[in-house]
Amino acid sequence: VIAALAGGVGAARFLSGLVRTVDPSTVTAVVNTGDDDEFHGLHVSPDIDTVVYTLAGAVNPGTGWGLAGDSFRCVDALARYGDETWFRLGDLDLATHLHRTRRLREGASLSEVTTEMARAWGVPIGVVPMTDDAAPTVIRVTDGRSMPMQEWFVRHRSEPEVAGVDLAAAQRAAPAPGVLDLLDRADAVVICPSNPLISIGPVLAVPGVRKLLSARRDRVVAVSPIIGGAAVKGPADRMLAAVGSEVSCVGVARLYADVCSTIVVDEVDADLVDAVAATGVRPVVAPTLMRDVAVAAELALTTLAALAR
Ligand code: GDP
Ligand code: CA
Repeated sequence: VIAALAGGVGAARFLSGLVRTVDPSTVTAVVNTGDDDEFHGLHVSPDIDTVVYTLAGAVNPGTGWGLAGDSFRCVDALARYGDETWFRLGDLDLATHLHRTRRLREGASLSEVTTEMARAWGVPIGVVPMTDDAAPTVIRVTDGRSMPMQEWFVRHRSEPEVAGVDLAAAQRAAPAPGVLDLLDRADAVVICPSNPLISIGPVLAVPGVRKLLSARRDRVVAVSPIIGGAAVKGPADRMLAAVGSEVSCVGVARLYADVCSTIVVDEVDADLVDAVAATGVRPVVAPTLMRDVAVAAELALTTLAALAR
């Protein structure tokens, strides 16, 4: 049994490699829902959608989110009414949010809806949200404002300088059914190469998760999302700097030291292995830039083997 803590694009790429190296039915991704928000009255779960669309082979390869070949006629039509359309929801993608919102209104839990969605897309692994409760991540910026993650990331293009990340809602959320049990019995728990602060941070903040993983850290392995001192994509590097963390795989190892025993770092960071080891996390060096699914599959294999050693 393999559990994977997952954010969006980085995690989805890793998982698409993982399903080619192990029996997918043994894998369950526990996905961040701190980015969930409501647009046009619809419940949007960006990281769940990215994981499902990617594993279904339906994701827009250019962006890493949304559906390949989608159009944006509906959001553009909404602009006529003066509605805010900075969060781009594709026409076909809207079907997911319409369906999810209706099911939630009928009383289904987010876990139930996510299971249904993964099945509908033929996704071969289990996909569960970290919690069924609302757990929005709030970004505090240096001018004193606070805003939901998508507003900071998409509307303001992650430009306002970050003062801190508020995970209070995740800290009050109940873990989704089965999450703690899964993490307790998993032979391996992989912390995917996702943003440590806004993708993995919320999952670890859900009550019980951090404590459980600390107790089993010999079974937990992370993959660094920081390569050569920079994020592959997105604001993870700037955010790490903002919260006073070293912007390198060493900084990532330090953030995860209490919950994981091993971290896979990129070849370009081979000179940092002693500094990583000094954090108490065992470094394993491998190519981690997932240019294609073959590299992702190789990385998944290395990651699991790193724990077995
Ligand atoms: P988001 O919600 O879509 O931002 O998703 P994630 O948090 O899962 O992904 C963003 C993180 O993934 C960034 O910190 C990237 O550096 C990392 N990432 C993306 N692609 C790769 C890759 O090929 N290799 C590694 N090691 N990290 C990656
Ligand atoms: Ca995300």
